[in-house]
Amino acid sequence: MSETKWNIILKIYRQKENEAPHYSEYKMEVDPDEYVLDAVERVWAFMDRSLCFRHACHHSTCGACGMRVNGVEKLTCITYIRDVTQDGATLKVEPLRNFPVISDLAVDMGSLYCRMDSVGARPVLPVTEAEIENPSNKWNPEDAKYIRLSDCIECGLCISACPSAATSSGYLGPAVLAGAQANGLKHDPALLELVDSEDGVWRCHSAFECTAVCPSFVDPARRIMNLRTQIVSERLSRLFRRKS
Ligand code: SF4
Repeated sequence: MSETKWNIILKIYRQKENEAPHYSEYKMEVDPDEYVLDAVERVWAFMDRSLCFRHACHHSTCGACGMRVNGVEKLTCITYIRDVTQDGATLKVEPLRNFPVISDLAVDMGSLYCRMDSVGARPVLPVTEAEIENPSNKWNPEDAKYIRLSDCIECGLCISACPSAATSSGYLGPAVLAGAQANGLKHDPALLELVDSEDGVWRCHSAFECTAVCPSFVDPARRIMNLRTQIVSERLSRLFRRKS
């Protein structure tokens, strides 16, 4: 923490059920070496207990605190105030795009989690009562059909930044396609059909915004390009197999 203090206006997007969206402004003294999430939490703690936002780990592991800070997707728990504003300025904080807003800065990430499941990019949890009660029966990674996209913290920043996701709610999106790429296609025709569909890899316009904002160095854009190569190669080899 520094001795320096800045006076800023924190401008926060607000949206409650049956209310028109609007912004609330909070004048605050901040330490420029604080994180944006610290300032948001102080608003909740000392100024407005109705403010709704998501956070958990405070060290960029859980992916819960993704927001748009001055229009750019950030994990707010690792975004220094000094890097995104200056003394006397306004700092705007908004929810992620391309997800439904639940309340204020909190969005519904359900579509991302379901789609990650659909390409096998999430861990498989025990599902039967016996498995839950007897941990020795729990899922063994050695038996997994899929490999988890382990670097992805499922923060959704890439989907918020993606111009293609903004035009189609059905688009699988960067994180999900990166997960499919990590698993490869050869062992699963259904996965090939899914990623080669209208809302799969071909909807990507190569804007590379996903890679620019990803805090976890997953590099979804490169993985999507690689997945396209895999798809073409897999289709060609199937064609040749049929002809021979
Ligand atoms: S690919 Fe990166 S930006 Fe997208 S959800 Fe995963 S960690 Fe977040």
